Order: sequence, then C-alpha cells, then structure tokens
Amino acid sequence: MKYGYLRFIRPLVQGLFFVFSLYIGYEFYLFYSWAIGGSGDFHPRPPGVESFLPISALLGLKRFILTGNYDMVHPAGLTILLAILTISFLFRKAFCGWICPVGFISNLVERMGHTLRLSISVRPWVGWVLSIPKYLLMAFFIYVIFIKMDLHAIEAFINSPYNVAVDAKMLQFFLAPSNTTLLVIGGIVVASVFIGNFWCRYLCPYGALLGLLAMIGPLRIVRDEEKCISCKRCRRVCPAGIPVDKRQSVWDPDCIGCEECVSVCPKEGCLLPRLGHYRLNPLWVPLLAVALFEVAWLVAMATGHWETMVPIDIFKRFYAVMEGFAHPSY
Ligand code: SF4
Ligand code: SF4
Repeated sequence: MKYGYLRFIRPLVQGLFFVFSLYIGYEFYLFYSWAIGGSGDFHPRPPGVESFLPISALLGLKRFILTGNYDMVHPAGLTILLAILTISFLFRKAFCGWICPVGFISNLVERMGHTLRLSISVRPWVGWVLSIPKYLLMAFFIYVIFIKMDLHAIEAFINSPYNVAVDAKMLQFFLAPSNTTLLVIGGIVVASVFIGNFWCRYLCPYGALLGLLAMIGPLRIVRDEEKCISCKRCRRVCPAGIPVDKRQSVWDPDCIGCEECVSVCPKEGCLLPRLGHYRLNPLWVPLLAVALFEVAWLVAMATGHWETMVPIDIFKRFYAVMEGFAHPSY
C-alpha cells in the first residue's frame, strides 16, 4: 500500500494540534487566574482561545460581510473561522480529519471500539436519521444569526459584556461541568465506542456546516472502477461510514478528508483525491490544509487581526462580575 504511511501521520498531526490546544487552554487558565486575582503572576491572554467560540465568530462573520468591519473583540476567532471555512471548501472537511482536537479524541475512542471489537456499522438510512439533530442545530444557528438578527442586534451582541467575557464562561464550563454535562459527554463517549465518530457524524452543527461547503468544493476522493478489486477495505476503515467501494466519487458531507480509505487501498492509483481535473498525491491534502491554517494565523498577526482590541482592564472588570451576565436573547 503506497500511501499506508498516512495512517501513522494523521494521528501524529492531530496529536500535535491536540497538545497545542491544551497548551492554549492552560495559558488562558493562567491569564484568567491572574485576571480574577487568584494569582499575582501576569500571563498574556492567548488569542487562540477564541477558536473555542464559534458562535461569536459566526456573528463576527455576518458583521464582516455586511459592513467590512472585522470583529476586534475576538479577531482570532473570526480569523480561525474564515480559515476553517476556506479549508472545508477547498480540501473537504480536512479541518475535522486532521486538525480538530475533538475529532482527534473521537478517533481515539473509535480505534478503541475497533480494538475491542465493539464497533458496529450503521445502515445508511439509520445514519441519515441520526444526522438530523446536527442539521437542525445548524439550521437553528443559521436562522438566528443570519436571518433573525439584524445588524444592530449583531453589533449589540459583539460589544456586550457577555461576549467579551464568553471565553472565561467557556473555561468555567470545562473546569466545573454540571452533572448533566458530564452525563451527556459520557453518553457520547460510550456511543462513540460502538459507532465511530458519533459526535462528528451525528451531533456537531459546526461539522454539518463545513460538510455542506465541502459538498460544493472541488476536492473529491475518486475511485477508478477498472482498477478496483472490490476488497471493501476502504469502506471498512472510513470513519464516516461511507461506502467508498460503491462510489465513483466521494462527495458526501460527512467525508472528513482523512484519506484512511486511500491509505489502505491495495491497488495503486485506484483511489486518490482529485482537485478539479487533477489527481493529487494524498499527502497534499493535509499539507495544504495545515499550511492554509498557519498562513491565516501569520497574515492575521502581520495585519493586526489577531490580538483583541479590548483592554486587559475590561477583561478583569467583566470577569469579576460575569456570573450576572445572561446570554442576550433575540
Ligand atoms: S471517504 Fe475516505 S477521506 Fe472521506 S472520510 Fe471516508 S476514509 Fe476519510
Ligand atoms: S480499497 Fe481500493 S480496491 Fe478495495 S474496494 Fe476500495 S477502492 Fe476498491
């Protein structure tokens, strides 16, 4: 198998991004501790923490589209969202398959299910039914943000104390999860042992949006029917449960561009990614996706679209009283 090495590279790349996410979370924890007076040592606020605020970033995106004004409350969040949308359009959901830390954990649990021989395959129609919640959630967010909220409401939300302090609220959510949260997370982990990538395939509204973009994008995994020996290895390893061995071209919104299928195909040149008319070496997909992610970060840094314009004193002041901030309702 010419591209078998991809199966080893993917967890490595995912693992690196996962560790980096933990590092950002820890740096933010140090900043937060300082800001609420729990520690005397000042730590700068890591802008990357805004990657955990996708809804705020979507609001920033709408304002950017309507006015051209960049969200300078959480600019890194908007930059990361724009990078992820571009990656998803160009390289399928390679963000989910190669970069997302939740996707990494999901893959680890999936592998555990395979190792323990507990994983089961889901019939396509069952998969579609199970996918309904994530599309409903996505439709809800799209409706509220892009239809119901006008520019005035968007501006009010972006500049609200709630939005400024939402990073700390998110941290509290992780530091002190409620029993309900723990039960839901535990349920998803258990479900993921039996049905690989349960969260990503059936519940993540962000992934649903990225999948729709990937569907209209130019990258496909293409199967050469004349070379195919119908061994079904591609279907068995696909974390999205796609029947790759039956497809001439994989366009499914659930395809995460992981290329597990390509890596196990025994017939050289039978299964390859194709960008428009060009067949690609599969290594280019993660290389270009990660490069685009990094370039977005560098450009944002160089042009002043990475660091927030909110003064540190405001963060301190809002964190001190954020318990009283309710989510703005529209
Ligand atoms: S079709 Fe291939 S690239 Fe897409 S999710 Fe399945 S294994 Fe990954
Ligand atoms: S792994 Fe390759 S040869 Fe086997 S069924 Fe899939 S595409 Fe065909």
